[in-house]
Amino acid sequence: MSEWRKQDKNSVSDLDELKKVISLSPNESEQLEKVCNIFRMKITRYYLNLIDKKDPLDPLRKMAVPHVKERVIKKDESDDPIGDENTDHHPIKAITHRYPDRVLLYPTPECGGHCRYCFRRRMAGNSGYRVSENELAAGYDYIKKNDAVHEVILSGGDPLMSGDYRLKEILESLRKIPHVWTLRIHTRMPAWNPFRITERLVGILSKAKPLCVVTHFNHARELTDIAVKYLARLRDSGIMLLNQSVLLKGVNDSTYEQIRLGWALIRAGVKPYYLHHLDKAKGTSHFRVDMTTGKQIQKQMRGALPGYAIPHYVLDIPGGYGKIPLEYDFLTTDEKGRCVAETRFGEFRPYQEL
Ligand SMILES: *Cc1c(COP(=O)(O)O)cnc(C)c1O
Ligand code: SF4
Repeated sequence: MSEWRKQDKNSVSDLDELKKVISLSPNESEQLEKVCNIFRMKITRYYLNLIDKKDPLDPLRKMAVPHVKERVIKKDESDDPIGDENTDHHPIKAITHRYPDRVLLYPTPECGGHCRYCFRRRMAGNSGYRVSENELAAGYDYIKKNDAVHEVILSGGDPLMSGDYRLKEILESLRKIPHVWTLRIHTRMPAWNPFRITERLVGILSKAKPLCVVTHFNHARELTDIAVKYLARLRDSGIMLLNQSVLLKGVNDSTYEQIRLGWALIRAGVKPYYLHHLDKAKGTSHFRVDMTTGKQIQKQMRGALPGYAIPHYVLDIPGGYGKIPLEYDFLTTDEKGRCVAETRFGEFRPYQEL
């Protein structure tokens, strides 16, 4: 069995196993039992090893280990916070089609591990969302009939949880559609289980170029030597690497951590693409950061990182209305209505536009 399959098979998904690795007080253990009855847990041994067991506030622990606060479900939180299943944009089971030129295709609901803040937690690891070969074929047909679609984004779940054979078939089927110009894979496997990036997988992905892999790292410590080594295989085969992350309280909600993450990504040859404002999925309120803080952090990244290492800070509007930028506005007007440009140090400089 390949290393990644072993990692996956040995993942920790019940509390008794978890207790052997991370000490939980009897009270905490009782509370987490209740959390696990609502939300699935899955942590690879590789990822467990990265967690600082002595620190209850360890950011990597927060992303992986269930927390009692997940039982708090706010009124504005939902199963489908970004409206992926809003019928206006969800023509068939395997596809969300929100923008004219690109669609999301969901080959599998399985994930390398379950992120505690997941925006699709209704789906992740839920076999009810499994897509049959017929349903996939219906997806290809849908794309074939829509010749405005130029990019297919494999999303999920985690598309790289599919086996090599199935993935190869999917990519080849999509490649055959003449108006599909480029492919994209959204995956958190490089963080949960980097061993997934086998030479064979890289061979399959390379044949489907142009193809871009969008990773999902939220913290510099997730870019381990192992992860960096495996990512290099993708990069060296000419696959563009981008990263999307989520702004999470107690994980990366500081300028310091965002700069550290930005540099760790750049060193690994990955360009930061999106910094997502946290979607309102059920039981995630303890991760929420306000937008003013988010914008301030993004503002302070300017000048502290190469320009290309600054991600777009975005909000996905609930209900399926798409992403909007939440960029800090450096160009404003003063009390007399004159245009002023704010420096990264917070000084205001007059600027005459025309
Ligand atoms: C985010 C998203 C995309 C991809 O958007 P980009 O801005 O191109 O990364 C495509 N379709 C849906 C439904 C999305 O939510
Ligand atoms: S990898 Fe993505 S879909 Fe899977 S649990 Fe994490 S955030 Fe959710």
